[in-house]
Amino acid sequence: MATTASLSPLFLNSSLFPPSTHKLHSSSWSDYRSRTKPICVCVSITKAEVGVRKEDIVIVGAGIAGLATAVSLHRLGVGSLVLEQADSLRTGGTSLTLFKNGWRVLDAIGVGSELRTQFLEIQGMSIKSEDGRELRSFKFKDEDESQEVRAVERRILLETLANQLPPESVHFSSKLANIETTADGETILELTNGTRLHAKIIIGCDGIRSPVAKWMGFSDPKYVGHCAYRGLGYYPDGQPFEPKVNYIYGRGLRAGYVPVSPTRVYWFICVNNPSPGPKITDSVLLKKHAKDLVRNWPAEILNIIDLTPDDTIIRTPLVDRWLWPVVSPPASTGRVVLVGDAWHPMTPNLGQGACCALEDAVVLARKLANAMKSGNASVLDALRSYERERWPRIFPLTIRANLVGSLLQWENPVVCSVRNNVVIPKLVRLGPVLEHTNFDCEPLIQGIKV
Ligand SMILES: Cc1cc2nc3c(=O)[nH]c(=O)nc-3n(C[C@H](O)[C@H](O)[C@H](O)COP(=O)(O)OP(=O)(O)OC[C@H]3O[C@@H](n4cnc5c(N)ncnc54)[C@H](O)[C@@H]3O)c2cc1C
Repeated sequence: MATTASLSPLFLNSSLFPPSTHKLHSSSWSDYRSRTKPICVCVSITKAEVGVRKEDIVIVGAGIAGLATAVSLHRLGVGSLVLEQADSLRTGGTSLTLFKNGWRVLDAIGVGSELRTQFLEIQGMSIKSEDGRELRSFKFKDEDESQEVRAVERRILLETLANQLPPESVHFSSKLANIETTADGETILELTNGTRLHAKIIIGCDGIRSPVAKWMGFSDPKYVGHCAYRGLGYYPDGQPFEPKVNYIYGRGLRAGYVPVSPTRVYWFICVNNPSPGPKITDSVLLKKHAKDLVRNWPAEILNIIDLTPDDTIIRTPLVDRWLWPVVSPPASTGRVVLVGDAWHPMTPNLGQGACCALEDAVVLARKLANAMKSGNASVLDALRSYERERWPRIFPLTIRANLVGSLLQWENPVVCSVRNNVVIPKLVRLGPVLEHTNFDCEPLIQGIKV
């Protein structure tokens, strides 16, 4: 029985926009923020229409993992439907540093070149103490000629990925509420608006608080003891910084900034906190907190915060989940599988969460696309093979990111002094530290790769 229509904005490519409106750098911040490359057009879908719809692959979540998986499958000739709880792509969020493994994947799925033109290549790294003394500096290419580092605006990354998909691939305002498995092995997804979808394969890309992971028996991610403030400074007349990542290490407190584009600079502050504390949404208050934390630190970090539009500032308690063998549930249950943060939330200390979500996406898509040619049993094999390939990569990285965070958040003055005067200047070598960014990824092409 047809019931009342729900409004579900569908994603369409923005061919209606004249080319000039696609330019990245606009004259004002609000202009820039309101300018969206993709357009979301509200299209009515009835509950009944969706309810009878049988999908081969449903992806829950239109974040980096969800969109990269959908695009990878699409490149291999496999369609999917993406459900996103929000009413549009995430426009908030700041920036992510992507290392060469992330770029290998973006190249493989065919969006690397488009993104490269918009974001600066970061040449190196400088580490300072809170009094402004430089402890160490590195050039990425000196350590590894093939390294590529750029900070990418999350919003633009999402839009670029989504624009690769056919119209109607992403359904917004579609929040997963419940999952059921039928006797014949089909999975039914129920959305909060009551619509039901039958799916042969479900890919949970629904982030750190993933309902899909919860349904599969995963525990909640664990708070690691520090929170991150982040923002995106805006310099309408051009930012003045060299293209390098800058870190400032204090006691139980660290900060950093990195130029993103000719007019934008990403910054973060990580501070120890015994508990995550209440969610703060008042951006003026967030800005004040952030500035108070680094008030006596090198002036440039304060200046960047001052030049940050309030609405880009966010505070995130950092969490992770260690995928212990035997104890942790497998990455797939039947034909439901996890990708990205939904499976392996990790702290951002190595800048690898999104990079690994991108890696997961291409690995899973290749295996699934191959398997779907050969039937049900192969799909289950493909999902298990995905886990076998990805777990040895993800598990150690999650632990390593956590340990690096603990080391950098030390409060003890003696330990911090040894870190700043011995470990960083004399012992750290960047090459081995960045070895985890090695990841080979061949282009995804139309047609199945054997
Ligand atoms: C402070 C900080 C800094 C970081 N810096 C970096 C960095 O420099 N480099 C890097 O590689 N990574 C970084 N990361 C990690 C990176 O942000 C994540 O790994 C990445 O966003 C994971 O993408 P995802 O798609 O798995 O999850 P998400 O980006 O969280 O996307 C999940 C999507 O699922 C949707 N969703 C959730 N529940 C439902 C539901 N019930 N129904 C439908 N949709 C749903 C959400 O709305 C969202 O759109 C950082 C993280 C933090 C916190």
